[in-house]
Amino acid sequence: SVELRSVTKQYDKLKALDQINLKIEKGEFFVILGPSGSGKTTLLRAVAGLERVDSGNILLEGRDVTEVPPHKREVAMVFQNYALYPHKTVLENIVMPVENQLDKREILRRVEELSSRLKIDALLGRYPSELSGGQQQRAALARALIKRPRVFLMDEPLSNLDAIQRISARKLIREVQRENNVTTLYVTHDQIEAMALADRVAVMNNGKIIQVGTPEEVYSNAESEFVASFFGNPP
Ligand code: ATP
Repeated sequence: SVELRSVTKQYDKLKALDQINLKIEKGEFFVILGPSGSGKTTLLRAVAGLERVDSGNILLEGRDVTEVPPHKREVAMVFQNYALYPHKTVLENIVMPVENQLDKREILRRVEELSSRLKIDALLGRYPSELSGGQQQRAALARALIKRPRVFLMDEPLSNLDAIQRISARKLIREVQRENNVTTLYVTHDQIEAMALADRVAVMNNGKIIQVGTPEEVYSNAESEFVASFFGNPP
């Protein structure tokens, strides 16, 4: 599980995160939906440990990690630009997170499993520049999952894909997430994506969580004008 207790993060006078309280259950696919500048990325970076918070606590599987550095949090993150290393092959990119941590045979086993699952077996020897956007995205997913993280953080991972690629990528992300029962926090400003992916969704604005529920609940039962105009069914 992922829990935020009264988490606040301020840049000068701007509250990027304003008293955020949230609990995401184990295995849940949780989507943070909100307009540009609402604080989504800041929230994700705080959970990853890439951003210090000013006050409040962050718990992973019940353990307080507020002061724990990123590499000791057992989270994996996928960004919108995938951040693959250009001078490394797809295979080298994928194994990097576990290179010095697992034995060769186990690494090979995981690479085989993930690359067949993500349909990149034939691409392992290529460099990122020789891949399409969708292929890069699948390679980035493999790299994030090879460590078998407890928590998976994704920040608009599909925004560089075209509409068709996006639909198949959504399906794939959901399948891999379910198979591995990874607690997932997924950030987007795209309502359709939230609808298609989320077990539950939180609508965010100005650093605050405005409403939380299943996509159906939030869509048909918007509690404020903002939520209605952004996501729900306007009255
Ligand atoms: P987008 O969808 O455009 O990525 P977002 O919802 O992810 O937006 P954040 O990136 O979390 O929003 O930013 C929240 C607010 O905090 C914004 O107003 C932003 O300008 C501000 N902000 C983010 N990072 C910094 C920083 N390092 N210094 C100052 N202000 C920042």
